[in-house]
Amino acid sequence: MTTSGPLVLIVEDEPQMVRFLRGSLSTHGYRLVETGTGTDALAQAAARSPDVILLDLGLPDLDGLEVTRRLREWTTVPIIVISARGQDDDKISALDAGADDYLTKPFSVGELLARIRVALRHSAARSADKPEPVFRLEELRVDLAKRQVFLGEREVHLTPTEYKLLTVLIQHAGRVVTHRQLLKEVWGPPHTDNTQYLRVYMAQLRQKLEPNPARPRFLINEPGVGYRLRVG
Ligand code: CA
Repeated sequence: MTTSGPLVLIVEDEPQMVRFLRGSLSTHGYRLVETGTGTDALAQAAARSPDVILLDLGLPDLDGLEVTRRLREWTTVPIIVISARGQDDDKISALDAGADDYLTKPFSVGELLARIRVALRHSAARSADKPEPVFRLEELRVDLAKRQVFLGEREVHLTPTEYKLLTVLIQHAGRVVTHRQLLKEVWGPPHTDNTQYLRVYMAQLRQKLEPNPARPRFLINEPGVGYRLRVG
């Protein structure tokens, strides 16, 4: 199992964090490649074709944001950025540049494994080129082919904008989507700063879909970053 698991490229310059990642991942069947610089990360990504990249934002040479931009010029490999507290702007820029998700130090082994599983599932779905026609989460069911939304047996009627917002979150299910990404995809590029649209429509969606809108279980807020539709 340890010789055939997914290959993870760890890009991190702090020895303690490298030990934590190595210990957590190798015991769960992942194969690893490690590097401490952005320049070598780009070389390793090309040479080894990892299945997922864990990328520290604070590297001694290129920063993680620049590494993300350069990787996205040629590969769709899932990138999970690792940020320190206080790197919120960098984290958001990395997500906007094409990173798939993020972890903020310190994080648990459970969070790490969950993020990697979601990232791998998405890239498998993408390479199979067969989008899941029905999204399910507890009593919520969204039939993407028929454009119908159900809570249990009851059909929920969404406005076109509410539905579009929901489908963008479904496309990224389990991963964080930044405010900017959501605004761009739902309202279009000129509206990427109109975060009040998002607050209004997210409140409406929660009102219609959440069992208790005041304590959302499906549409999770990632403070200062964006939203995440929960999976499983
Ligand atoms: Ca670092």
